[in-house]
Amino acid sequence: MYKRIGILGGMTAESTVSYYQHIFRRYEELYGDLAYPEMVIYDVSFQRFEDWMGVEDWASIEEGLLDGLRRLHAAGADFAVIATNTMHILFDKLQARSPIPLLSIVDATAEAVKEAGLDTVGLLGTRFTMEKPFYVEGLKAHGIEAIVPGEEERAYVDRVVFQELSLGKLLPESRKGYLEVIDGLVERGAQGVVLGCTEIPLLVTPEHTDVRLFDTAVIHAEKALQHALE
Ligand code: GLU
Repeated sequence: MYKRIGILGGMTAESTVSYYQHIFRRYEELYGDLAYPEMVIYDVSFQRFEDWMGVEDWASIEEGLLDGLRRLHAAGADFAVIATNTMHILFDKLQARSPIPLLSIVDATAEAVKEAGLDTVGLLGTRFTMEKPFYVEGLKAHGIEAIVPGEEERAYVDRVVFQELSLGKLLPESRKGYLEVIDGLVERGAQGVVLGCTEIPLLVTPEHTDVRLFDTAVIHAEKALQHALE
């Protein structure tokens, strides 16, 4: 029996789907049958988390996420992934208090970048992911340098995440805008770009650019699958 995977999702629900789908499809692709690991998904209702983020009330967010992890545990999950990059700002605190082990999206992404043979990447995400130290320092701990967009571009990338992607709006003009930001990061030395927000890969995919992209939702989901199979 494989380990039972817990997905703490709803952050947003648009990207929870990517995790769920990747895990069972990839299993079928690898093994050709339907014996994929069991999963428990707990989707938080995200608005209050977004409101807390707006006022940087990280203590309330921590309690809210911990409640979700306890529910996953109660439902039988053996371990969990928190299906969003931004909330990894609290990863160490949550890991210390969670009743089940957690797998970090930052560590999984760093491993994927290293496996690709790169050491300098651009980083796109919410303003917290691009501006707070947890992501850039987390990559640095693995020997990877992260380049973030300039201030105006960061505000633009963040606005599109919250006002469009999180609501399932995938607009061609925003794709164009993101591709320009990606090209700017490459001009500054990025060998590839980490899509460090789990909704961005819904908008920008390898068919839109030759730049090497790292889809953090898929990377994290793959990590969960491999851990369940171990
Ligand atoms: N899913 C996003 C992430 O990976 C966060 C979504 C949001 O904060 O609206 O960081």
